[in-house]
Amino acid sequence: MSVRVRLAPSPTGKLHIGTARTAIFNWLFARNQKGKFILRIEDTDQERSRPEYTDNILEGLSWLGLEWDEGPFYQCQRLELYQQATQSLLDQELAYRCYCTTAELEEMREAQKARKEAPRYDNRHRNLTVKQQAAFEEEGRQAVIRFKIDDERIITWNDMVRGKVTWKGSDLGGDMVISRAAGGAEVGKPLYNMAVVVDDLDMEITHVIRGEDHIANTAKQILLYEALEGKVPEFGHTPLILNKEGRKLSKRDGVTSISDFKELGFTPEALANYMCLLGWTPPDATEEIFTLAEGGQKFSVERVNKAGAKFDWDKLDWISSQYLHSLPVEQLTDQLIPIWQKAGYELDPESDRSWLEQLAALIRPSLTRLTDAVEMSKLFFFANVELDEDAKIQMQKEDSVQSINCILEMIDADAPLLVSDAQGTIKKITQKVHVKKGVVMRSLRASLTGTIQGPDLIQSWLLLHQKGFDILRFKKSIGQEIEETKKLESTSNKNKDADS
Ligand code: GLU
Repeated sequence: MSVRVRLAPSPTGKLHIGTARTAIFNWLFARNQKGKFILRIEDTDQERSRPEYTDNILEGLSWLGLEWDEGPFYQCQRLELYQQATQSLLDQELAYRCYCTTAELEEMREAQKARKEAPRYDNRHRNLTVKQQAAFEEEGRQAVIRFKIDDERIITWNDMVRGKVTWKGSDLGGDMVISRAAGGAEVGKPLYNMAVVVDDLDMEITHVIRGEDHIANTAKQILLYEALEGKVPEFGHTPLILNKEGRKLSKRDGVTSISDFKELGFTPEALANYMCLLGWTPPDATEEIFTLAEGGQKFSVERVNKAGAKFDWDKLDWISSQYLHSLPVEQLTDQLIPIWQKAGYELDPESDRSWLEQLAALIRPSLTRLTDAVEMSKLFFFANVELDEDAKIQMQKEDSVQSINCILEMIDADAPLLVSDAQGTIKKITQKVHVKKGVVMRSLRASLTGTIQGPDLIQSWLLLHQKGFDILRFKKSIGQEIEETKKLESTSNKNKDADS
């Protein structure tokens, strides 16, 4: 039988990193087994489900490159199916109506607590007579439907990740609710475990790969599969994603949704690659950079770790930088343009294309995240640059002032500047002013970029020259504040506003 797996997110929040990682493992397994990856939106909880979360989930999965083969199927459009299955359990007396009120259940729990017992439903309405039921209905009570759980039962399965797992029926909290309250002979909306089992059967799911927080549900679901006379799928429970303190990664840890990671400047390829490694060890553990398709060739659930997977920002950043450093300049530029625009930098994506590509190529080796480009590129978009302390100290030196003066004499504002021109100019200055090349270079950098460290200096100069910013900065750095500078600064006021 061919493999069929599914991702079944509830649209009660944005696509969470844990759900996305579950999606990745299912996707990799499906690709590895030449099976199908099915998407099902579990939206029966109408109060907490929101269409914007569904959109966020679908967008996030597509952005990561996790295309699904079937679906999305929406549970709220399949209610009849669950109600039929529930009715069949009622007909076979495997399920029954429970009329307990919230207050009664609360009282039951309090009494159990007082006796230091684990909270559970005591199955008190399991054997109501028709007359007792009618009396409750006459009182106007609604009934949930509970599925009978045999306390004596031992439930076992061979988990693909964890090996043999055993669960006692008596640890499942008593007969479980499978349908929400409804009046009379009606069957209300299904609860999670019921809808999941009916769907997994209907969709012929062969392997259920999901987070280990679902283990207790698996035990309950196996009982439902049996009651519905369906084939029980294989189960694999993946480890939780932990924060650096070793606790489950939660909203309190800040960034947890895929759209947040996108905002932070991670590419989908890097993020997907990192998530593959969150709890899975590839056969060749030294090969850490791979595409989803390559991951699919090597994936096996057996190599998913049992222990929790610590979320490691340094590793994610390292993977991200690997991707960005090898991204072709054209693609990098495409990705940076919206980021520069969002930062308020003025640019024309078409007429400035060549300059933008040169800028992208210049900063590429220093990028860890795409958003780093905002700070790194700032000095190329604005006419003015403030000198930091080190640059000021550099520019107070006599040799520096002389070097810059000399450059100003030699440079032609209207002629294009080539690498060879720039190098030639530097060489001539060292001869003319008798200063070391290092001094000229440091002065040039301080004057042009306002700092004494940064990307390739000659390339930076070429870019600034194309904008006409170099001569203005040279003059300003040696105290020649001129009208032209002010004019150019005022034309780039818009940029400055965005900057503030
Ligand atoms: N709707 C469940 C959740 O979002 C998925 C459960 C499952 O995979 O069976 O946690």
